[in-house]
Amino acid sequence: MDWVLLSEWMKTNLLTVIAVAITGVLIYHYVIERDRAVKLSKKYRNSIFEAQSRIFLSATQYLISGNKDLAIKEFLNAVDLNRETIDTYFALGGLFRSNGEIEKAISIHRSLIARESISEATRLMALKELAVDFDKGGFVDKAIETYKDVLKINRDQHDVIQALCRIYEDTEDWDQAYNYRIMLSKVGHENQSETISHILVQKAKTQFEKGNYRQAAEDLDDAFRFSPSVSAKILRLKLDLVQGKMEDANILLMELLKEHPMFSSFLFVSLDEVHKNLPADSDYSQRLTQLKKSFLEMQDGDLMSAPSVVLSKIRLLKATDRSQEAFELLDRWMKNHGQSDVLKMEYIKLLIDVGRGPEALEQTQQLLKTLHSSLTRHYCSQCGYNSDEIFWRCPQCHTWETIQFRWKV
Ligand SMILES: [Zn+2]
Repeated sequence: MDWVLLSEWMKTNLLTVIAVAITGVLIYHYVIERDRAVKLSKKYRNSIFEAQSRIFLSATQYLISGNKDLAIKEFLNAVDLNRETIDTYFALGGLFRSNGEIEKAISIHRSLIARESISEATRLMALKELAVDFDKGGFVDKAIETYKDVLKINRDQHDVIQALCRIYEDTEDWDQAYNYRIMLSKVGHENQSETISHILVQKAKTQFEKGNYRQAAEDLDDAFRFSPSVSAKILRLKLDLVQGKMEDANILLMELLKEHPMFSSFLFVSLDEVHKNLPADSDYSQRLTQLKKSFLEMQDGDLMSAPSVVLSKIRLLKATDRSQEAFELLDRWMKNHGQSDVLKMEYIKLLIDVGRGPEALEQTQQLLKTLHSSLTRHYCSQCGYNSDEIFWRCPQCHTWETIQFRWKV
């Protein structure tokens, strides 16, 4: 709800900023034109300026009060007054677009591009605006084509390349997503290594799911070259299992758990998922069982102090009907370490599993007093998007690796 309000506020304010800027541009033009020998009589020009100022002033007021329809009407009046004022067209096109009237915005920008008397810089700007119209209107193919036309004229367009990156990532065209990320890294100052790594992992994942393990391994090597992201390591672990490299798999598992203990539960869920895409007679299952076994036997002191790692062990034990062992492990652990809501809940479930009902009830009562409830497991640190799923790229703000874990285990 807050986000809706905020975005509404932003829209209104953006339009206000545009209106103020346009008024500024008009004043500027007025000032320089005044010094030039212009055909129009001074009196006539002054009256045009006065009328325009009046219109822009009232348009600005409409914008501030949030009345976009009336603001557009006022801007249209200004266009009638002085058809050569290009900036007014741009402001108008932008207003139509933000008002959801994409067709009108498109026709304004097209008419600008078609004009013979404009400069190349203005034509480029109009083409860019047209691409944004297509993009906002959901005409993906036309948006891509027009953005690319812009780049043909001038390659140094950060926002255009960024828009193409977003579109190709949305449509999961990883080859193109990769190409344009590379282009973006050359134009912009931001380091794109993490993101490029993620894109290459996605590419490798597609190959992995098709059973093209060699190609997947190659793409994954490329991903590691850019950045050893968590998602890259998880996929490497899957590949190690598929290819029977058990020693590598064990080393990588330890490395992953030490660097990213928060991901340990997800890691095993993710490893289990591979079954679905493999033939029934694969060795993968046996090898995964073996990996889980060595994880359960692992006694690394540092690792075992991480609550999420303990939780993973408990879940693996429960999944193989070893609730008694799971209970003993957690019981011991909770006496030596701090307690969190998630672990307490797990503890209560285990008390029930091992037939200690009255204790479970007592623990439940204690827990309910202190429970801080939250709706989802994960959220985006950038925009606050909530989800129970793991997301490497936020579906809402499209930023990579902004996932935060709400569980304070
Ligand atoms: Zn986000």
